[in-house]
Amino acid sequence: MFCVRTGSALPWAAAEGHLKRLLSRRGLRSTVTSGSGSERRADSGGAQRAPARSQPPGRSGRADGDRITAASASNKISVDFDRSREAYKSKDSLELLRSLVVFKLCSYDFLVENNTEIMDLGKKILGQKHFDQLMKMTFYGQFVAGEDHVVIRPLIQKNQAFGVGSVLDYSVEEDISQKESKQKKMNSCSSAAGKESTGEHYKKKNYEAHKQFGDSQGELNSACPYFYVEEAKCDQHMETFIKCIKASGGSSMDGFSAIKVSALGRPQFLLRFSEVLVKWQRFFTFLASQQEKDGIEALEQRLELSQLQEFLTKLGAKGDFYGWFTGNKSDSTRYIDILDWNSLLDNKENTSDLLVVPNVKLGKLEPLLQKFTTEEEKQLKRILQRLLILAKHASENGVRLMVDAEHTYFQPAISKLTLETQRIYNREKPVVFNTYQCYLKEAYENVTMDVELSRREGWHFAAKLVRGAYMFQERARAKELRYEDPINPDYESTNRMYHKCLDYVLDEIALNKKANVMVASHNEDTIKHAVRRMNELGLLPTENKVFFGQLLGMCDQISFPLGQAGFPVYKYVPYGPVSEVMPYLSRRAQENRGFMKGAQKERELLWKELKRRLLSGELLYRPVY
Ligand SMILES: Cc1cc2nc3c(=O)[nH]c(=O)nc-3n(C[C@H](O)[C@H](O)[C@H](O)COP(=O)(O)OP(=O)(O)OC[C@H]3O[C@@H](n4cnc5c(N)ncnc54)[C@H](O)[C@@H]3O)c2cc1C
Repeated sequence: MFCVRTGSALPWAAAEGHLKRLLSRRGLRSTVTSGSGSERRADSGGAQRAPARSQPPGRSGRADGDRITAASASNKISVDFDRSREAYKSKDSLELLRSLVVFKLCSYDFLVENNTEIMDLGKKILGQKHFDQLMKMTFYGQFVAGEDHVVIRPLIQKNQAFGVGSVLDYSVEEDISQKESKQKKMNSCSSAAGKESTGEHYKKKNYEAHKQFGDSQGELNSACPYFYVEEAKCDQHMETFIKCIKASGGSSMDGFSAIKVSALGRPQFLLRFSEVLVKWQRFFTFLASQQEKDGIEALEQRLELSQLQEFLTKLGAKGDFYGWFTGNKSDSTRYIDILDWNSLLDNKENTSDLLVVPNVKLGKLEPLLQKFTTEEEKQLKRILQRLLILAKHASENGVRLMVDAEHTYFQPAISKLTLETQRIYNREKPVVFNTYQCYLKEAYENVTMDVELSRREGWHFAAKLVRGAYMFQERARAKELRYEDPINPDYESTNRMYHKCLDYVLDEIALNKKANVMVASHNEDTIKHAVRRMNELGLLPTENKVFFGQLLGMCDQISFPLGQAGFPVYKYVPYGPVSEVMPYLSRRAQENRGFMKGAQKERELLWKELKRRLLSGELLYRPVY
């Protein structure tokens, strides 16, 4: 099922990439990019400042071009995020008032922490109909586009007219009681295969199901927004995503559609698959340390094969490891790196031979990976099939598929499955986007490894970079199960990680036009950093390689100026019936309350614009498009 690659050492093209990267790290990059940048500008026929997105007739994406400081001599664009009038041009005054009220409410910890109970009480007092109306006037109206893909069209078109595209996100989640939820989650997380564990030395506690993980209301909760009941339910979720993809294709020329892989299969399987992948990688790290190669970047670690053979033989292993590791090629491969290593797992014919690893404590060999049961094999096949079907629909509808990142204990499997889909559908153009969470200590390693793999295999790398939404649950779970916290120690280190990953991908785009990135953040410094770096590298918004993303109802002062300056910018647009979207809203409020507390600037800009309209007699302003 997975692609098989040869175990050859770095091919020439990759070596060249490494060389360029080394040059750039030494500050020599500008020589490389300035040449190619000017060539690109010449190729684009001088249209480099045209709007990046298609606009309705009679309107330019640079409607506010006068507000954009364009340093024409150096051909650089800078965007001003302090101009309230431009930021809220697409909103009438009632919408501004609603934003102010909602943001104020979100700044009260008590309301955010008890939002579910408060909403339940509201429903009881007002009745469903009036409660729905109240929600539509407030939270739902602020963060959700509408009930279905037809109703949301005007909003999508309005945003598009003001230079902002959409990532459609059908956000319906099952709203079930705490008890039921706990039971369902534990059921979906208990293994179908035996509990017998092998390769203990390379195992991580991160990938064990835990009773508190089944608690949907506690701090360790909300792991899977979708509750696995049976395979038919996963098919239903897939159908829903297909509708979303079609709606996205129908409402704009270059839209995105977001999906969650946990909706497409059994969470336990994702957990188990993640465990296998991580064990395999840890075994590589162990072998690298035996060859005294620890302490260097994962991608630079290369195992010398004859040493490896010697080491394994000393431990009592029998057989031609050399042949196995090189894929029985008769070439002169002497080394394998982590990417070659990972690809050995793809060759399922061979994996059973290799499930034997040294147990250092006991000084003997033991099976590293327990083989998948027939049922697990089927689960793997089905989940991948669903993902491939979604990618096919996306490709046929001219839509890009955004695979959201979830909790760390599912993420290796989600990333691996996404990668398999990218290998097939990103050959010609970037159809499938993976998501990288920069609050993870291993984020840079994940990004660089996948970029390198895409380069070697010749497909379009496509990523969404986020900071990460599940920090509190991740930390609490790590503490409870006593494993190392996977999250960076503090906010500043997450910021540094984000910018390091972003810089790496931007460099890659400048060098190799096949890479793509969505800078998904509300952080103004990060957006400014991305724009500045694009300028330095000569990356033009019109190239449609660097996208920006914010959530609907948040940070319009970032999205709209970016769009009006010609940058491809998108809002994540959740939609679904009021009652079914509430858990999503509640989770958003929880996930973003740190951010919302800091929404002081947004509130100030909203006030400023409301006051301006009042004083200039424009309170009844209606956006025209
Ligand atoms: C378009 C879009 C798509 C998204 N998709 C996903 C997705 O697929 N998966 C996902 O997980 N999230 C996703 N998110 C949410 C995202 O991960 C962040 O939670 C959210 O955007 C806030 O981060 P920020 O960069 O916008 O703002 P900031 O306010 O600058 O950053 C807040 C974030 O910093 C990190 N942080 C805060 N305090 C600390 C600390 N003490 N130590 C370490 N790190 C800390 C946390 O990640 C926190 O969410 C998405 C966000 C957007 C805008």
